Amino acid sequence: MSTGVLEPAVEAVAARAGVTLVRTRAEVRAWVAARRAEGKRVGLVPTMGYLHAGHLSLVDRAREAADAVAMSIFVNPLQFGPGEDLDRYPRNLEGDLALAGERGTELVFAPPAGEMYPHGQPRVSVLPDDEIGGRLDGGNRPGHFRGVLTVVAKLFGIFTPDVAVFGQKDWQQASLIRRMVADLDLPVRVDVAPIVREADGLAMSSRNVYLSAHERASALALSRSLGKAREMYAAGERDAAVLRGALWSGISAPGVEPEYAEVADPDTLAPVGEAAHGTLLAVAARVGSTRLIDNALLP
Ligand code: AMP
Repeated sequence: MSTGVLEPAVEAVAARAGVTLVRTRAEVRAWVAARRAEGKRVGLVPTMGYLHAGHLSLVDRAREAADAVAMSIFVNPLQFGPGEDLDRYPRNLEGDLALAGERGTELVFAPPAGEMYPHGQPRVSVLPDDEIGGRLDGGNRPGHFRGVLTVVAKLFGIFTPDVAVFGQKDWQQASLIRRMVADLDLPVRVDVAPIVREADGLAMSSRNVYLSAHERASALALSRSLGKAREMYAAGERDAAVLRGALWSGISAPGVEPEYAEVADPDTLAPVGEAAHGTLLAVAARVGSTRLIDNALLP
């Protein structure tokens, strides 16, 4: 397989980081088989790379639950819509290998798109129904969750991990993956890790790199709106419409274009009338050309 001109440099970085870097499904299967032969449980952390502390917290979780941890780094074209940021999505494989290795990741699977989709667009894919897949991000990014669930199902098929770790940052994604695993009887335990934030509250995201200093300040409207709604809940407010209104006005800030503000059931994602313990608060907005999401569960 052609691996590109930069490969020797990347290989050297991987070696220094103590990470096995592989590009093919066959190499993953061989690695997994060897770990199983050693009696080890395999943990998987699927990512699109450009790693930050949020991703690395998932590696920590995976290491607690498994004996050998692998990460996939794949900017999955299938989950990007036309006009979205597939082409400019940030990439830094060498930096990612160093960070992943430092945190104890043993294997990184960074396949070219042709390795994941050798026949082009898959003819069979995993599609959530509109009830749970069409709300929130699903309503604003048509086809997005079909792309996500399909690639995650493929990764589960390639790795057959004992446990896979996802972030609460993408609550709807994690919730749909759990549902896929339950509905399709996939033999993997799904673990969901809390959101890692910057010191000022901004949820970490690879896309934060797009933000100018000014936009970075405006972006705080998202986490602040969640904080405000949580305070209102703590003070006794239970009317979801009131909390929704607070979220919406919180993200209707200068330089921020709100997309949705929802108070929802954490499993079905359906809007609720009354907020309670465990209710999901979720917001999405555009800051400049960058689409950001954030959420919180009511305590
Ligand atoms: P991504 O590379 O953005 O596709 O994210 C890969 C995984 O990391 C997903 O399960 C995300 O939910 C998770 N993740 C992203 N940002 C954070 C964060 N700030 N805290 C915790 N997990 C995160």
